[in-house]
Amino acid sequence: MHTTSPYPIGKPGQPWGEAEVAAWQSRQTVQRSFHGDVAGVIERLRSRFDVVEYGRLEYGADTYPLLAIRSRNWSEGLPIALVTGGVHGYETSGVHGALQFIEHHAADFEGRMNLMVVPCVSPWGYERIHRWNLHAVDPNRSFREDGQAEEALALMRLVAPIRDRALVHVDLHETTDSDESEFRPALAARDGVAHEPGEIPDGFYTVGDSENPQPGFQKAVIDAVAKVTHIAPADGMGEIIGTPMVQPGVINYPVRKLGLCAGITNARYTTTTEVYPDSPKATPEQCNAAQVAAIRAALDFALSHQQAQG
Ligand SMILES: [Zn+2]
Repeated sequence: MHTTSPYPIGKPGQPWGEAEVAAWQSRQTVQRSFHGDVAGVIERLRSRFDVVEYGRLEYGADTYPLLAIRSRNWSEGLPIALVTGGVHGYETSGVHGALQFIEHHAADFEGRMNLMVVPCVSPWGYERIHRWNLHAVDPNRSFREDGQAEEALALMRLVAPIRDRALVHVDLHETTDSDESEFRPALAARDGVAHEPGEIPDGFYTVGDSENPQPGFQKAVIDAVAKVTHIAPADGMGEIIGTPMVQPGVINYPVRKLGLCAGITNARYTTTTEVYPDSPKATPEQCNAAQVAAIRAALDFALSHQQAQG
């Protein structure tokens, strides 16, 4: 769909200032509960896992604990797997897929891996079904020392001790129709540039690191998810979301250069999952199951290839 009407905040060609950010904030409303949906689930995991509060967002009257879940029997001799969800709070299956993985699947990896799962990196965005944080900053362009998102800086501090020791990192995302209808137009308006319409891929894909693409690893993730939901085909240009498809269902980005969460460790195996929840063929349960399948396949592959040369 091509829309030419300007975004309702700001003036075309002019980046937002404080007044425009305030106008944008006034349009954001709580639509669901982090404390109920997410913190409540984490609460019942405390009997089996260590729960770490690695920071706290103080956003006006709203306070959000930043919560990570770790294997209780953390062993220095075992490889480390990091799973992150909800870096974009609106990407629901990332949050609930991470929670389902730790609740129902973590036991299968016990004694083989240390798990660190951060299911909802951006709780303010989770509640408002938004991509940005309170300050109209995208956490997933902010994983850098001079980043402007507290969500990203807190996660970087949490992960610092395992940065060089993690074997595998799976960062759970979605690509949604609202990316094209709302979030990209909002981004263009915020930055004072023209919105270039794009296509939303129909199906699941992964984003690898162009500096460390690991095609066999990405394939294992795609093959596992294909049993749960359909994989996005390339468009007529051979691309997915404007980037060349390098193998079925896979594109690569320079994740560190872009300040993406997938570059937060030096893990040999990293992938960013992109579930498509708006397909008439995909239910919310399927989307969560696709995230779980991706995590399981990633961890299994990493375990069976951990001696390989990276
Ligand atoms: Zn995302």
